[in-house]
Amino acid sequence: MARMTSSARPLLNRRLAEFGTTIFAEMSALATSTGSINLGQGFPDTDGPEEIREAAVRALRDGRGNQYPPGPGVPELRAAVAAHQERRYGLSYDPDTEVLVTAGATEAIAAALLALLEPGDEVIALEPYYDSYAASIAMAGGTRVPVTLRPDDAASADTAAGASHRRFRLDLDELRDAVTDRTRLLLLNTPHNPTGTVLTRAELTEIARLAVERDLLVVTDEVYEHLVFDDAEHIPLATLPGMRERTVTIGSAGKTFSFTGWKVGWVTAPPALVGAVRSAKQFLTYVASGPFQYAVAEALALPDDYFDGFRADMLRKRDVLAAGLTDAGFSVFRPQGTYFITTDIRPLGESDGFAFCRALPERAGVVAIPNAVFYDHREAGAPFVRFAFCKRTDVLEEASRRLKAAW
Ligand code: PMP
Ligand code: GLN
Repeated sequence: MARMTSSARPLLNRRLAEFGTTIFAEMSALATSTGSINLGQGFPDTDGPEEIREAAVRALRDGRGNQYPPGPGVPELRAAVAAHQERRYGLSYDPDTEVLVTAGATEAIAAALLALLEPGDEVIALEPYYDSYAASIAMAGGTRVPVTLRPDDAASADTAAGASHRRFRLDLDELRDAVTDRTRLLLLNTPHNPTGTVLTRAELTEIARLAVERDLLVVTDEVYEHLVFDDAEHIPLATLPGMRERTVTIGSAGKTFSFTGWKVGWVTAPPALVGAVRSAKQFLTYVASGPFQYAVAEALALPDDYFDGFRADMLRKRDVLAAGLTDAGFSVFRPQGTYFITTDIRPLGESDGFAFCRALPERAGVVAIPNAVFYDHREAGAPFVRFAFCKRTDVLEEASRRLKAAW
């Protein structure tokens, strides 16, 4: 709790009072102080393509982006984002009026909510949700309305006894029931952090139908668009009928190119929506990451080989960690997307993910994230723990050995 002033009024305003330090900072600090393997915060332990790193160096040396870049982003990057959406999804956006570069997806989410919400507006988000959603909704004065993704039948879990594809599922009736006259916006995320669920065409079609029927705006966080596995397919919501005009789509270079520190993200949407988001964004950072914007423009134009290779590499890592966790006794939800694995710790005789994650560094020398932090209904998330697999294979193998030895 924030320090009191002499008037006994808390320093931190009531919109933010419920949000302490983000779990990612807390758990990464714990990993450092205990010398543990950090499978908590989602960042790769190897950098992205060398030629893209060099492109950033070149931009710096050539003096491109060392001073404030244009507010909407450098033209090269806006053109590259538009070309990427066209090439991958057949979505056509005008780089001048329908693309906005942001300081990572985090700023895009905050700016979109600050721009589009009036105090009291309700925002429906899929629970468990990425932690900045709740804080951004709160900063915008909105009210969050969680719709809980629930694991399907335990009979199909990945356990030591056998592997399958248990999934956290959206209940479309629950989603429909959550819409009220005060609902302004759906805040979606697919592929979904932390569950690894990728929304199917059938699910997205129903979501789109509901958005059109109830005249809702949609902000869709698609930062893991290139991390989909097996037979899952990433379908941008904006490609569905009636959605382009009401959808703000968010992407990020951090996940796709393994440069999370560069903080280059983007928004694609029709001009009125981009204009609204830009109004908020210009007073948050105004601009960010000048030289990196040029490098990301080159990255988005990489041939399909890069994207395919990246996915194949992450798929191998997923399978290494999924096997390790299964072998260590966890029940594993094999993700269809993202670079996170959600596990159920109950087969280990544990039920409180918070206590489990706080003890894990001492017990096993590994750090993970308790999914409960991503829930309003904390009890619904209590037994679930998330592990990141965007790490070197030897690191994943060592973590698996440590976990197995600890139980
Ligand atoms: N959305 C989701 C679902 C995430 O997992 C993250 C974390 N990287 C972000 C947004 C934030 O992305 P960025 O680092 O580009 O701000
Ligand atoms: N998105 C990353 C995760 O889910 C963390 C980003 C952050 O630390 N804010 O692990």
